[in-house]
Amino acid sequence: MSIATNIQTIRTSLPQEVKLLCVSKYHTIEEIQEAYNAGERCFAESRVKELQEKYAALPQDIEWHFIGHLQTNKIRPLLPMVSLIHGVDSLYLLEAIEKEAEKQDISQPINVLLEVKVAQENTKYGFTPEQLRQIKTVHTPHPKVCIAGIMGMASNTTNEKQIAQEFQTLYEVFEDLKQTIPTVKVLSMGMSNDYHIAIQHGSNLVRIGSAIFNNA
Ligand SMILES: *Cc1c(COP(=O)(O)O)cnc(C)c1O
Repeated sequence: MSIATNIQTIRTSLPQEVKLLCVSKYHTIEEIQEAYNAGERCFAESRVKELQEKYAALPQDIEWHFIGHLQTNKIRPLLPMVSLIHGVDSLYLLEAIEKEAEKQDISQPINVLLEVKVAQENTKYGFTPEQLRQIKTVHTPHPKVCIAGIMGMASNTTNEKQIAQEFQTLYEVFEDLKQTIPTVKVLSMGMSNDYHIAIQHGSNLVRIGSAIFNNA
């Protein structure tokens, strides 16, 4: 199936209030252009260098998101290109982004999502729900960085009940954080294999790569 057909199929299954983020990492500029021509404007990359090349080659009205594990020495080139950084997984990284945002004198605050760890695999990055609760007390809001919400990943398993439980936990963390951080609005969860379940548990931003690009 073509990229355009894949996108159409996915779009049909998404409720109006759920935003589609096309995960274009490892895919070519031509493939991204194809998705763009099909109407998509929101893409995500996981490496700063790869994003730089694509950012320079593709239309300027693309909204780029960063979904990778961000190293502090890559924050500087990243900031001018992105509208949302998904995986902020430590207070240290959050503060490094704040420092750099201040240096660059950007006009709009940088939007970030705090990554929350709910999956069973111990390799996943992120705050535990308990650590996140503490953030609210130890972190002072910064004028140049906006905590726009949370992102998370379910375990890589075929056990749908477990996936559903993990998404439900993320949803509860999200609702809880909203009470104390008024800028929190985005719940980023759900990928190609589990986005249907994520939506049932309140996701309003799904990150879909292979279902768009790999089946093309
Ligand atoms: C690669 C990636 C995705 C997309 O995964 P697919 O299974 O290809 O849809 C989503 N989120 C993150 C954080 C990723 O790294």
